[in-house]
Amino acid sequence: MIEMFTVGMLSTNCYVASCQDTNEAIIVDPGLDYESEAQPILNYIERAQLKIKYIVNTHGHNDHINGDAIMQAKFDAPICIHKLDSYFLESLQTNKIPNVLLEEGNLVKFGKENLNVLHTPGHTRGCICLIGENLVFTGDTLFAGGIGRTDFAEGSMADMNRSLQKIKELPDSLLVYPGHGETSIIGVEKRLNPFF
Ligand SMILES: [Zn+2]
Ligand SMILES: [Zn+2]
Repeated sequence: MIEMFTVGMLSTNCYVASCQDTNEAIIVDPGLDYESEAQPILNYIERAQLKIKYIVNTHGHNDHINGDAIMQAKFDAPICIHKLDSYFLESLQTNKIPNVLLEEGNLVKFGKENLNVLHTPGHTRGCICLIGENLVFTGDTLFAGGIGRTDFAEGSMADMNRSLQKIKELPDSLLVYPGHGETSIIGVEKRLNPFF
């Protein structure tokens, strides 16, 4: 079960993904600008009686991690981020729970759900996509009809092209939940996204 919240000045998509059998859940990219933006997300989590196991960041940019500390204070859950982007978390007022440093092939488990970590550098060095049975969270690597910027200091177009090749291997049927903008489907992106 996926619930999407668009938060912050850059309209970042924050997702709550949950296992319907166990109510265990994760929060993906709570990039809040204001504490008040957390309220609809917290209301949803409370109403659905979800148990938050992890806060997961697709990469370390502010518009994706800003709300990590608020969510961690609320749920006492560790923050998961690729090891190459973990330095972005140093500025956050998070509590004493150690972060979970991810790398390619790791599984993020909640309830009966497993998300497989695909390392997709290019937008940042530690960008990841999270692949489930029917869906993929693509962060700022892949958008509907576009890709994330590679012109920041930590970006690389060569890396991005290699990452897009990896994404091209994914099944056409996967739903795409990107870091910004509309959802899509991998098969549609392979056909219509000019970057493929
Ligand atoms: Zn970004
Ligand atoms: Zn972003």
